[in-house]
This record gives sequence, C-alpha cells and structure tokens, in this order.
Amino acid sequence: MNEEREVTMRDMYEAKRRIQHFVHATPIQQSFTLQEDFQAEVYMKLENIHQTGSFKIRGAANKLLSLTEVEKRRGVVTFSTGNHGVAVASVAKTLDIQAVICISHRVPTNKVVRLEKLGAKVVKVGDNQDDAENHAYHLAKTEGLTVIPPFDDREIIAGQGTIGLELIEQIPSIDMAIIPVSGGGLCAGISKVLKTYHPEVTIVGVSMEKSAVMYESIRTGEIVRLREENTLADSLLGGIGVANRYTFSMAQKYIDLFVLVSESEIKEAMALILNELQYAIEGAAATSVAAILSGKVDVTGKHVATIITGRNVDPSVVMTAYQHFYT
Ligand SMILES: *Cc1c(COP(=O)(O)O)cnc(C)c1O
Repeated sequence: MNEEREVTMRDMYEAKRRIQHFVHATPIQQSFTLQEDFQAEVYMKLENIHQTGSFKIRGAANKLLSLTEVEKRRGVVTFSTGNHGVAVASVAKTLDIQAVICISHRVPTNKVVRLEKLGAKVVKVGDNQDDAENHAYHLAKTEGLTVIPPFDDREIIAGQGTIGLELIEQIPSIDMAIIPVSGGGLCAGISKVLKTYHPEVTIVGVSMEKSAVMYESIRTGEIVRLREENTLADSLLGGIGVANRYTFSMAQKYIDLFVLVSESEIKEAMALILNELQYAIEGAAATSVAAILSGKVDVTGKHVATIITGRNVDPSVVMTAYQHFYT
C-alpha cells in the first residue's frame, strides 16, 4: 500500500533537497507587453533554460536519486523520445546508471542520435508508442530494470513540484498559475504546493485544442483515449494511462479552470516570447502565455505565473511564427 500513498509536501521538500546539485532554481521574468495589454502582473518561470531544455530534469533527477543502490546498479528503462527521455538519459549518465530507452521504429533518426549521444541504449520495437511502452515493462520484468514513468509517479510529481516551491518564494503575491497539461505531473506537483500555501490561488490548466486527453478525461469523468493529431504543442500529446494512479485525481481536485488554445494562439505566444525575451521556445511551452493572449482566462489585476516549460523546437518554426506576427 505504501506505493499508493498520496504525494505530500514532505515529498516536495525531499525532492528539493535531493536534486539541488543537479538542478538550479530557474529565474522568473515579467512580461511588460502582457502587463500593458492585460493590466496584470504576468511572470514567466523560465524552465526552458535547463541544460536539458525542459523542466523534466527535475522529476527525472528526483526519481533516479531516490533509487536504491541495487536498483541503480541494475539500470533504468523508459519509453519517451521527447523531453522526458532526454532528461532520464542525461541524469543517468551523470549518475553512471545504465539507461535503456524503448522507442518505436517510427521515431526519427535525429532523436535516436540525440539519446545515444547522451549515453542511453536505444531499443527499437514495434511501430507505435504503446509497443515501446509495453516493451519497457517487459524489460523491467525480465532484466530487473526500473521503469521511470514520465508523469504518473510520486517522485516525478514531487520533482516537478519543486517549481511550486520556487514560485511561492519568487512571487509571494501570486493569485493564479497557468500550467501546461499533458500527463499532468507538472500540474499536480505545482498545484499541490500552491494550494497548500495559498488555498485561494486559482489553478488554470491549459492544453492544445487537438487531442487534449486530460481535458476530455476530466470533462467526462473517466480516462479517455484520443487519436493523436499534429500540433505545435507536440510535447503535450499522449495518453494519461488507463490505470492512472495520481495525476488524474490530482488534476480533478486542483484545476479550477481548464482552457484549450488553438494552433494560431500558440504560434502568437511563441512569437511574443521570441520578440520580448529573445527565447525560442516550443509550442507546449507557449500554451500558458497563449491562454492569456486568447482572452480565455481573465487575468485583470492579478499576479499570474506562467510556466515556460521547454525549448525542444526547430528554430525555423519559431522564426516563421515571429515573421507572421511581427513583420
Ligand atoms: C512534459 C511536458 C509538459 C507537460 O508535462 P506533464 O507532466 O506531462 O503534464 C509540458 N511542456 C513540456 C515542454 C513538456 O516536455
């Protein structure tokens, strides 16, 4: 039963202590454009500036550092080619832990090369994400590897929750946080911290209009599966797991308002951040700013945190968006 206990504030502080030598606290920057246009104090938490390009390093570091010596010696396995896979490979390399990453044959070569450069062993299997995931659990059973899940795990959630611990110190007057949601580990961790310290803070979840699995699952009250469509917010694609243990119930409990943003709104937010901060960020990372730009969240007079989650994007995509909105 210990496995299933809920994520506590103590887990968050444990995470903060564990990861302190791997992950630096990130700065926040205010957007003067959004402040002018929306009469709100808008703070952007710069999770794009981590060495690995996204906040996923927090959860991955906390999970790997929490393993027993025996587990570390046997190695770990995961099934993400995106920011989570990169984070696991990178932390594993630093800790001298063997990381296996299961991927489908459809994953482009550049992603495979990137993971291999980080020292991971890439295993190709099947032709979709589910095959890769199943194979990871198979290897866990047959070879004693520990699975590092991307979001639905206590240590992963607590790792992402360290963003919340930084926010309460950096923005003591915070009244709203707008958080990009895919599997919901990020949102669960941050919300738990914010609602514990400031119960009156409004938590806004944001996803893209296309294939928003958590949004549909909360709306219908049961975990749904959706076909994946192309989107600029590709890091937000994927299911939440039919046997979800933590993030679905935490999202149901903590999210006060859930908004969906269009591709054009995402593009506009990417352009704004390049123009104002000179950061090229990925579509998923732009969604919390897009939620403000879209007018779907009333931020007037509020102190609002947005989370700039990552920068895993082809610069030409950001340039095209920039040219569309600013030239
Ligand atoms: C993983 C990820 C998210 C969403 O995090 P979840 O914990 O899966 O909800 C948002 N943005 C980026 C860039 C990500 O890599």
